[in-house]
Amino acid sequence: MEQTCEIIEDDATLKGVVKVRVPGIYGTKGAPLPARMAKLARPAAVALRKVYDDVVAAGGHLYISDMFRSFADQQKAHEDWKTGRKSAYSPPACNSVHESGRAIDIDAFDTVIGHKKVREILKKHGWVNIVATLTGSECWHYEFRGAKFENVRGEKGYEEMARAMKVEIGNVKKVAAAEKSKDQVKALQSGLNKILGTKLIADGIYGEKTKEAVIAFQKKFKLQVDGVAGPRTMAKLEELLKA
Ligand SMILES: [Zn+2]
Repeated sequence: MEQTCEIIEDDATLKGVVKVRVPGIYGTKGAPLPARMAKLARPAAVALRKVYDDVVAAGGHLYISDMFRSFADQQKAHEDWKTGRKSAYSPPACNSVHESGRAIDIDAFDTVIGHKKVREILKKHGWVNIVATLTGSECWHYEFRGAKFENVRGEKGYEEMARAMKVEIGNVKKVAAAEKSKDQVKALQSGLNKILGTKLIADGIYGEKTKEAVIAFQKKFKLQVDGVAGPRTMAKLEELLKA
């Protein structure tokens, strides 16, 4: 298919979000990215169109592996990371810019002109990457924040920015559910700190360090070692905290 980001129409369910057609990596390489993922906030879509123009002019191509994620998609990606099905870290729902139509994951290893050149073009049009290396973890993840969100960083930092972007497009239906699971993760983190003497920050985000601590806890108390704080792990933790 053509190497471009084509705006198809407005998305009826999300404010300021458009459906787009971009070359994906699923099925036949270059076939359009599946519709449920192929959505962007309009300014991000316009900027991505310019990226394609420049990439093509330079003799390259750009395939997209991920774009918009619903609450359920994001939670699933996070659970897949927790269970080890997916090796790259994925934050829990409500903490990803993918839920705001302002993030893309590219095939960084198949560009013809090299990821370095593609990164320069993306940057020129406002797409930023928080990983410094061209081959490291999440090097393929780019975000279009725009002037509007670049500086939305209160005390909660990145999370606050991601949340503001979600609010803008009206993707906030399941925020209460995310808050509840966040409180549970906070309780897990402070519990692990008490029992293991770890110094986890009780921020409610089940990240790398929390997963490592859960693994250490499971080893110590001879539970199934999977890094997932399931019912047995939680029951053991509660038992120890009460003792
Ligand atoms: Zn990503």
